[in-house]
Amino acid sequence: MRYLRVSTIAESSGCIKFLRSKILTSYRNSGGGSNRTKQTDAQLVGTGVHELIQFVLTREGSERGKVAEQISMDLEHLRQNLESSDLLRKAFPDGYFQTGVIQHRMIKTWEEAKTLLQGSMNLLKALEEWKKGSENKWSVKEEVTINTKNDHHGYDHSPPSSRNIAGEELNLHGSIDLVFEYQSYRILAELKTGGYSEKKRRNWERQVKVYVDVWKEKHKEHTVFGAIIQQHLTNGFSHLSGPINWASLADPSQAVGGPQCQQCKYRNSCDVSEFEGTQMLYMM
Ligand code: SF4
Repeated sequence: MRYLRVSTIAESSGCIKFLRSKILTSYRNSGGGSNRTKQTDAQLVGTGVHELIQFVLTREGSERGKVAEQISMDLEHLRQNLESSDLLRKAFPDGYFQTGVIQHRMIKTWEEAKTLLQGSMNLLKALEEWKKGSENKWSVKEEVTINTKNDHHGYDHSPPSSRNIAGEELNLHGSIDLVFEYQSYRILAELKTGGYSEKKRRNWERQVKVYVDVWKEKHKEHTVFGAIIQQHLTNGFSHLSGPINWASLADPSQAVGGPQCQQCKYRNSCDVSEFEGTQMLYMM
């Protein structure tokens, strides 16, 4: 069956024509991980910061807070001295501080990581306050796929769930950045680096709500909520309420302009395209 990566929904601005162009036909390991060989520097920072937050949040119990504190201090040292600590080198992907324009990357890393780490720890604190007696008892799993076996995390999510999107029954593939676990509660959280806009926020919400919908189908025994962690949200995170509106993803002819137009195959012919043309690097 044809499939769609749920993360594509977060890039679509609700443009179903764009989503249709991203439907895939063969399975090529869509569950987590990322190809760093062709990433831009902004993407490299995004991937690096994701891995850093996952490194901290997946520590157990009281160790998590201590590691978060040390990482915060090390990030400050990185900003002031442009020097990475052993702990930061362990937390970031191999070679992160050795290739490309290092100075720029270190400053961008500090900017993104310090607030995202704070937002993640704020979410955890809010969960601990919400469920009395759960302090230091939440476990966090990273990169949990919704369509395959996750033997190391104790979940079996195969075979993939399907939904009717853009007029077609599609399998849904994807991987959740962080799953917070306590008793029968599961909080599915996505980490978002980069800038903020209301349009982006609606995209992120759609993505997380799809994950929640699929999780509820696969684990009827769980009470499930979604969350977004992003530096521009109040306290660095937001809870999501309400189910996904599947009708908003149904009309195959629905076109909505947005940043995704830059990479859309209809960008030159679409009436509502926001494609701004190829940027001129040199004036002739
Ligand atoms: S150009 Fe933009 S609005 Fe038009 S179909 Fe593509 S993504 Fe949608």
